[in-house]
Amino acid sequence: MKTTDRRSFLQAGLTGLAGVASLPLLGGTLAGCAQTPAREAAGPAAAAASKPALTTEKLTERVTLIGGVPGNVIALSSSDGVVLVDSGSAALAGSVKKSLAGAKVKTLLNTHYHADQTGGNVLFSAAGAEIEAHKITRQWLETDFYVPADNRWVKAQPKAAWPTKTFREKDEVKAGAETIELGYLLEAHTRGDIYVFFRDSNVLAVGDVASPLRDPVLDWYTGAWLGGRVDAMDDLLAIAKDDTKIVPCYGPVMTRAQLQAERDMMLKLYTTTTDLTDKGRSAQDMLEAGVLKDVGREFQDPYRLLFDICKGHWAHYTNFGGNIV
Ligand SMILES: [Zn+2]
Repeated sequence: MKTTDRRSFLQAGLTGLAGVASLPLLGGTLAGCAQTPAREAAGPAAAAASKPALTTEKLTERVTLIGGVPGNVIALSSSDGVVLVDSGSAALAGSVKKSLAGAKVKTLLNTHYHADQTGGNVLFSAAGAEIEAHKITRQWLETDFYVPADNRWVKAQPKAAWPTKTFREKDEVKAGAETIELGYLLEAHTRGDIYVFFRDSNVLAVGDVASPLRDPVLDWYTGAWLGGRVDAMDDLLAIAKDDTKIVPCYGPVMTRAQLQAERDMMLKLYTTTTDLTDKGRSAQDMLEAGVLKDVGREFQDPYRLLFDICKGHWAHYTNFGGNIV
């Protein structure tokens, strides 16, 4: 069975279940595990302390990549105003705004709810920007949620940070001469990830669904898992052309071939780890079995990656073949 088939199965099973609504139930049993919001929340503080230089890179005539905030923000210039993809961390969003040299932000698109991507939402909405994101990203921003890693709750963002426009599957935004396609990437990094494709400029923002620099992160407690990530990467590969500039939240601009290589690595990991999960093996067992040794990449925290992968798998184990009772 392909991961896509498993996804369809899962979708059917989750009909009517809102992601956020399930969190409190998960929280009690998953306490003590390191989680994404805590790790990413450390980013802005660390970045502000070391005062990193904000970088800008012109990708096309209209599209500029603003880096070091602490991840990547994309700015499209148009006759209607600027369209931003993500707003940077709260600590560095002011620098993002300054780099726009007074140009008005018409629309801010959030690829997902994490603090490094939505920390500047209040700043830009106060200046008149419309914020658009996936419906579930809005739910995360407007709701207190539990972080198993730290056994703590994160308070909801203020209303000014909430997206004022949301969608479920796809949307299209016009900005001057540019047509911008938005689409849902199911369970790839969080629940609520989207891609943003600047069709005319041929630039594809993929959020944290590709991760060429940092270890891939799976917010398993929100529903993200490796099968979802592989499927999402397939969706992105179907959109990207050979010369499309692909922009992850962290790391350098990728080519389609580089995205394909990362997807192939993820699929390989998916295959080995689902097989071992089906046999009841833990993340530590997988680490000791060397499943990360031949995928062609050094990971910063191999156990953490496998732990997150396993947590995600366990939500899907009934589809792996039935060896586990
Ligand atoms: Zn993220």
